[in-house]
Amino acid sequence: MRQDLPPLQFAYRSAPLKIANDGHTVRVRFGPGSALRIGKEFFTLQQFHFHTPGGDRIGGEVFPMVAHLLHKSRSGQLLALAVLFRLGPENPTLQTLLPLVPAQSDGDHSFPAVEIDPKALLPTARAYYRYLGSLTAPPCTEGVQWIVMKQPLTLSPAQLAQYKTRFADNARAVQAVHQRVILESP
Ligand SMILES: [Zn+2]
Repeated sequence: MRQDLPPLQFAYRSAPLKIANDGHTVRVRFGPGSALRIGKEFFTLQQFHFHTPGGDRIGGEVFPMVAHLLHKSRSGQLLALAVLFRLGPENPTLQTLLPLVPAQSDGDHSFPAVEIDPKALLPTARAYYRYLGSLTAPPCTEGVQWIVMKQPLTLSPAQLAQYKTRFADNARAVQAVHQRVILESP
């Protein structure tokens, strides 16, 4: 269903790295400095994390990884923005993060000298799908609004292998997106 969905307006800013191994995935936490505006709605970026495999099947393609950028509105509405990865060239953000993943699930580790730019996890094309969905795999919860970017990023096979030495597959089973009501921006 194609609709005139409002453009995504990103006001993301780099921040010093706060990284955690939460037992399921690597999580990078953000303070109040980065925001996403969609029409009249305003969301603050809280954290991003990854799942393997990607969990969303688009046009028959299955993706080996997905990044979830979790946002929250002032009223507490959660919004997850999903960026899918296919295999290809190395991803620079993962290249920074993977060697710094804490060995233990023991809370946030701060690296004041390492700046993480959440914009680097966005594809250049801003077209997206929007739907009301649910995710049961931790750390995602029910009652989340979903944005899925249409254009995937890439990670290298070596990066995927490195991630998988630390974390077991943690995605929900692949759900065909066409079984849910999907709104699609042009
Ligand atoms: Zn997630």
